[in-house]
Amino acid sequence: MWHGTLRSDPVTSVTVRVPAKVNLQLSVGPRRDDGYHDLVNVFHAVSLFDEVTATDEPATDEPAATGTDGPAATAGDAPAAASGTAASGTAAGGSAACEVTVSVHGDSAGLVPLDGENLAVKAALALAARAGRPLRVHLAIRKAIPVAGGMAGGSADAAAALVACNELWGLGLSREELMDIGAGLGSDVPFALFGGTAVGTGRGEKLTSIPVGGEFRWVFALAEGGLSAAKVYGECDRLREAAGEQVAWPRADEALTAALAGGDARALGAALVNDLQPAALMLCHPLVRTLAAGRENGAVGALVSGSGPTCAFLVDSEAGAVNLASALRAAGVCRTTVTAHGPVPGAMIVPA
Ligand code: ATP
Repeated sequence: MWHGTLRSDPVTSVTVRVPAKVNLQLSVGPRRDDGYHDLVNVFHAVSLFDEVTATDEPATDEPAATGTDGPAATAGDAPAAASGTAASGTAAGGSAACEVTVSVHGDSAGLVPLDGENLAVKAALALAARAGRPLRVHLAIRKAIPVAGGMAGGSADAAAALVACNELWGLGLSREELMDIGAGLGSDVPFALFGGTAVGTGRGEKLTSIPVGGEFRWVFALAEGGLSAAKVYGECDRLREAAGEQVAWPRADEALTAALAGGDARALGAALVNDLQPAALMLCHPLVRTLAAGRENGAVGALVSGSGPTCAFLVDSEAGAVNLASALRAAGVCRTTVTAHGPVPGAMIVPA
């Protein structure tokens, strides 16, 4: 059901800023019959942002291919860090045609699909299908969140596209309704809309906010390549099977919740947990050195972020963050570093 809103000043462009996430607790339950795992997932939104700008027509400075079934460029056509091309598609399940084009710029832009596989495109098409009338949009994505880095960058872009298109098209859907559509696109999408710090259960999409008594500082070590989340889950299953491990039902960690409530970085650092970490380290051995370098250079907590290969280091001061970041770069254990703080809100419209 579309709840239309009447406006006297038509919006022609909406920019949304959306945060990356780090998992403070990622506890993976037994593999289910459908191949997924039940999770207890404590998400924490950090100040590393992608931006998605939705406009009602393709940007003029970009070679945008249009049409409902036009040829889609592959990600390989786009040079890293400065790309621009487009894809289009029809709104799945809707009778009304929807035209979505996309361009991607910024960090590792060349690794992002520029066709209907782009999660932001999928999000716009899903929203258009919900609206049930002909709609069009150009999505310009500016990436800062590492691609396939375990920080849910694709999901973040999907969340941003939902918020931006909802505003651009004047649909008036609530954040809960957008989260509902987002859950159909990927289990990390609802959190990118929710923001803050929250525990997700099920596949991670049922969210409950967790109180946080302060701000936490982070250093992220970005890796050269990416890791496929599906491969990391597969490796996790393989390692558990090989070890004959009895996998317990995952539960929220009380020490972690208490550390968050108290704003206590050292206690939080000691409570960080990621069940996917052994699998990520197995698939990407150099991360062992990255984690060790972080611990040796003042981190009060260190873990692989989600399915990796980004490593997340918790520090207890601003100066500690600066020192750790430069030590990691000097040690040559990462492509680059980013400092950030959390928690921050979910996808937000940037005032024009
Ligand atoms: P997750 O932890 O949610 O699996 P991730 O952070 O490891 O995600 P993403 O950056 O979301 O990884 O990218 C995973 C894959 O999704 C990429 O390899 C890419 O092919 C695809 N993808 C689709 N849309 C996007 C997008 N807008 N930005 C980045 N990757 C995208």
